[in-house]
Amino acid sequence: MSDAAISIRNLCKTYSGGKVALNDVSFDVPRGTIFGLLGPNGAGKSTLINILSGMVNKTSGKVSIWGFDIDADPRNAKASIGIVPQEIVFDPFFTPVETLENQAGLWGVPKGARRSMELLRAVHLEDKATAYARTLSGGMKRRLLVAKALVHQPPILVLDEPTAGVDIQLRQQLWAYVRELNQSGVTVVLTTHYLEEAEELCDRIAIINHGRLIANQPTRELMATAQEKAVEVTVDRDLTEPPAAPCFEKIALKGDRTLTITYSKNKVNAGEVLAALQAAGLGIVDVSTQEADLEDVFLSLTNAA
Ligand code: ADP
Ligand code: MG
Repeated sequence: MSDAAISIRNLCKTYSGGKVALNDVSFDVPRGTIFGLLGPNGAGKSTLINILSGMVNKTSGKVSIWGFDIDADPRNAKASIGIVPQEIVFDPFFTPVETLENQAGLWGVPKGARRSMELLRAVHLEDKATAYARTLSGGMKRRLLVAKALVHQPPILVLDEPTAGVDIQLRQQLWAYVRELNQSGVTVVLTTHYLEEAEELCDRIAIINHGRLIANQPTRELMATAQEKAVEVTVDRDLTEPPAAPCFEKIALKGDRTLTITYSKNKVNAGEVLAALQAAGLGIVDVSTQEADLEDVFLSLTNAA
């Protein structure tokens, strides 16, 4: 099949109550990347992650993890991925080190090959190794879940909304560790509804909304979309169709005399855009500009879908 870390084709999920959570979603997570799955609450992110982990059964479509089809080869597929779920669940009576030892036992990791203390050190929980899980803060619990997801040394780590309930300092530590893991060759997928977070960390970003994939681009390209600036211009006569010029990325007629023009601010400036209108024989009566940030890009993408 594909040499992607994760390959998803025509994935659909309808919950038993009739809720369509994923609708014909297809994309690949390239090996070695930090991949962001972005979308507002209820978009279908956790459903997708839970299908990867085997917690939710898909309705249709194909999924392979590290080349292993989740239907044909579920054991190898599961062994290739470590998942940090959105919901924090622990047995409150185990200590972090016991939690990791138990998990390693479930994976059949031999005692000599276990790395429990090393993992606890990596997630800055060394000094809590023998505390009860119930005494850990939310952020500590989440970091313990990250360590737990890594006990079988999977080539892929998936984090579902990892910064929920994590303060800024711990978030930075978590990101530093995620980068370190990635540099050591681990493919990382994280879901978030924070654009800045995805922008800061991810090589590539896919966006889902209402169960549909609406974008899948290198972060830099998505950022370029954020380079788009819109200018609204009122001209001195009625138009039946918008004029064309190479510096317009998009142009739309809004009323008889008002044009909305989108241009790339890293290529041209507003003056050149207005000059192009004048060159087309139009007099300019009024101008207003509007800057798009990434949040706007996200909104426009999610609204369009
Ligand atoms: P996200 O993680 O992006 O916030 P989810 O995958 O959790 O989104 O949810 C997607 C949609 O599916 C939501 O409308 C949610 O209410 C619904 N949903 C999630 N889990 C279930 C379930 N077990 N049964 C029915 N509907 C569900
Ligand atoms: Mg979720």
